[in-house]
Amino acid sequence: MSLAERAKQRPEPRRNRRQKCTVQLVLEQLPAEEAEGLATMLADPKVWPGAEIARALIEEGVVDRPVKGSTIQRHRRGDCSCDDRSAA
Ligand SMILES: [Zn+2]
Repeated sequence: MSLAERAKQRPEPRRNRRQKCTVQLVLEQLPAEEAEGLATMLADPKVWPGAEIARALIEEGVVDRPVKGSTIQRHRRGDCSCDDRSAA
């Protein structure tokens, strides 16, 4: 779809979407094997502090803009914007 085509549509109302944080969106977009790798990292905060995961995401080209370590920590704690974490 081009911007010209998009311009003729209305954006989907954001409120109707589930709010998901960057971590959750990344998990859902990754191929299964990669998502599993990330889940493994998320499960081990002692080995993988949020900042290290954030760096790994950038280095692997998973995200195109930096993710904050605090965003990752928030997802770990369940303090993030994800409504439905079971979907992961
Ligand atoms: Zn989250």
